[in-house]
Amino acid sequence: MSVKYFAEPFKIKMVEPIRILTREERIEKIRAANYNVFSLAAEDCYIDLLTDSGTGAMSADQWAGIMLGDESYSGSKSFYKLQESAKDIFGYEFIQPVHQGRAAEKVVMPILLGEGKVSISNMHFDTTRAHVEIAGARAVDCVVPEALDTESYAPFKGNMDNERLVRLIEEYGKENVGAIIITVTNNSAGGQPVSIANIRETSRIAKENGITVVIDAARYAENCHFIKRREEGYGEKSIREIAREIFSYGDIFTMSSKKDAIVNIGGLVGVKNDAELFEKVKANTIPMEGFISYGGLAGRDLEALAVGLQEGVDEDFLKYRIGQMEYLAGKLEEAGIPYQSPVGGHAVFLDAKKLLPHIPYHEFPAQALAIELYIEAGIRSCDIGSYMLGNDPDTGEQLQSEFEFTRLAVPRRVYTQSHLDVIVEALKEIKERKDTLKGYRITWEPKILRHFTAKLEPIR
Ligand SMILES: *Cc1c(COP(=O)(O)O)cnc(C)c1O
Repeated sequence: MSVKYFAEPFKIKMVEPIRILTREERIEKIRAANYNVFSLAAEDCYIDLLTDSGTGAMSADQWAGIMLGDESYSGSKSFYKLQESAKDIFGYEFIQPVHQGRAAEKVVMPILLGEGKVSISNMHFDTTRAHVEIAGARAVDCVVPEALDTESYAPFKGNMDNERLVRLIEEYGKENVGAIIITVTNNSAGGQPVSIANIRETSRIAKENGITVVIDAARYAENCHFIKRREEGYGEKSIREIAREIFSYGDIFTMSSKKDAIVNIGGLVGVKNDAELFEKVKANTIPMEGFISYGGLAGRDLEALAVGLQEGVDEDFLKYRIGQMEYLAGKLEEAGIPYQSPVGGHAVFLDAKKLLPHIPYHEFPAQALAIELYIEAGIRSCDIGSYMLGNDPDTGEQLQSEFEFTRLAVPRRVYTQSHLDVIVEALKEIKERKDTLKGYRITWEPKILRHFTAKLEPIR
């Protein structure tokens, strides 16, 4: 049997009804939300692609784990189960649960960084950047230049620019570089993967200079799948073997388990073998997250995470998961709808700048497309462009983003191929009338992270 896209390696045991409002209702709902998709009620969204974080469907085994959760304050059975599961995958000696990814960052960054220090990353995710800065340090991004070209093919657009990394270390002085953070996959570059050769070289440079390597592991399993598919010499290796090799190049990892560990809440810190460093992790965890054997989670959450970690590296699951993204991207390609190519692991980034060239950046083309998708078919997506970027803090002027992306993030094990077809059909309809789409202006905005709460109105 040969199929182009690997079908769901599961059958559906429990369903959650969704319904589509009428077009008139959708127009009214988005107006009442002041044209901000974050202000829509989830119930009013037919297909919700706002994020893939914490929105996955748990398996029967994970739900069974929920019932087994040991809620002891200290030393619960569920904690030991989680430790064992995580050690098995990452090969690290020390594992600390925390309540989500940014909590891991909050615990780790002050240990490695402080005033006058620098963190260099292929790209800091926004909460990672925030915690680097809260720790008093500077966050410097160092991604390869091909990440910025949305149309050309490159197998590993998430890579660190290692030549520039060497120059940056010289420039700042190695004693001032507190951390080198490798984000897999590279979320901010569109979920683009990082090659194992690149990780190995980054790690070598770090070792040579005595700098700690942090792996931001939110989507490590998807990254392993790309390595298996695209990197020479890795086609015959298992996802687990590839994961072990990646983590062998790091010293410490932080992880949002809401992505590749398929839980609704949870995070991890792992330390390879430095007991002294792990003492510091524990010392920060206790006041900030909770006692070390629960780290801000309930015992039942630890159980679900222990199981989800194992399911996240399942080869059939990953074939299906990435296959869904490729199916969606393939249909968009056929329909001539532009997106960041090749598609990454967790989302399709529609190129609104190309689709709507008549809407200038200061009228937010990617936001206009997100609103139109909601009106067309009740699909919730979001702007990753000038609207999200905000204003220059000094002049108050609207900044122009390099990209105007409308992001379609796909939750794990939640939507079927028919749902993906609805997305494609909606976009085809919009493409037909794209020249009639108008831009938006902001009527109210907060000072920081405005995209979550700002109010907009259409420009007529
Ligand atoms: C989601 C994410 C985080 C933050 O994790 P939360 O669980 O949302 O706090 C950090 N880094 C990357 C790469 C992420 O994708």
